[in-house]
Amino acid sequence: MLIKDLMITDPPTLERNAYVYEVFRKVNERGIGRVIVLADGNLTGIISTRDLVNLIDLRCGSSCEKSDVYGMIYRTAEEIMSPQPQVAYEEMEPLDALTIMVARNFGALPVLNSAGRLTGIVTEREMLLLFQDIDELLSVRRFMSKRVKTAYKDATVRDAVSIMAKGGFRRLPVTDETGKVIGIVTASDIVRGMDKEIRKGNPEEYVRKPLHEVMNRNVLTVRPEDSVNQAAAKMIIERVGSLLVLDENGKATGMITERDLVIALYHQLHLTLK
Ligand code: AMP
Repeated sequence: MLIKDLMITDPPTLERNAYVYEVFRKVNERGIGRVIVLADGNLTGIISTRDLVNLIDLRCGSSCEKSDVYGMIYRTAEEIMSPQPQVAYEEMEPLDALTIMVARNFGALPVLNSAGRLTGIVTEREMLLLFQDIDELLSVRRFMSKRVKTAYKDATVRDAVSIMAKGGFRRLPVTDETGKVIGIVTASDIVRGMDKEIRKGNPEEYVRKPLHEVMNRNVLTVRPEDSVNQAAAKMIIERVGSLLVLDENGKATGMITERDLVIALYHQLHLTLK
């Protein structure tokens, strides 16, 4: 298999002078969580859901006024993009692209053909498909994060943004007063919510909402003794990017995300090649 067999073709793109509110809209297209930025049709940058959460954190003061939000969404894609992104090529082996993603901590790589034209994108999610063809050697326990950061249900979307931006992650389990997990909020939920409210003209109200109003109550779990292959299969089937490990009281004792699975995959493919 080559990258061209794995990649998503025709990825979401915007020209560099597009406004940031267009980025909020596009980044959710087809669940890719990235927008590729073009200059006269050529690749010049990339913007991810995580970049948008960091942007809200940076540009929206603690109270997040309307003027903060409008100051943010009328910037251009070029001002907030990561310039000259690392790329993959259609004819590359998936392991080579995986190595770049792990070594450089990138969740996605734009794909170019031999003529240097943008033809697709490959993300952590497509990499998870590679687990289908390899042995079940590694456990979830080994690759999950064991100190899970959670937020109380009355904390606001603004609070969640700041926790995610500081922690450098994209998911936040939401708890009740006993510490039991009752929902989860993701960076893409927040970006989608923001996009919807920008269109309605009230984005500043959205960021003040308590998490219990915006969270997803469908908390998907995995057992620490399950294989990473099983975790990958569940994420693909359920179309989520993370699974939680809960104790008997429903408290979070672990979390495994696409990112952790990509690292596990890298580990296993390198082990098997030796
Ligand atoms: P993500 O960007 O959400 O895929 O996560 C990046 C890294 O942070 C992975 O190693 C995750 O296991 C970890 N992680 C994600 N969310 C949390 C959280 N709420 N608390 C602790 N670690 C997390």
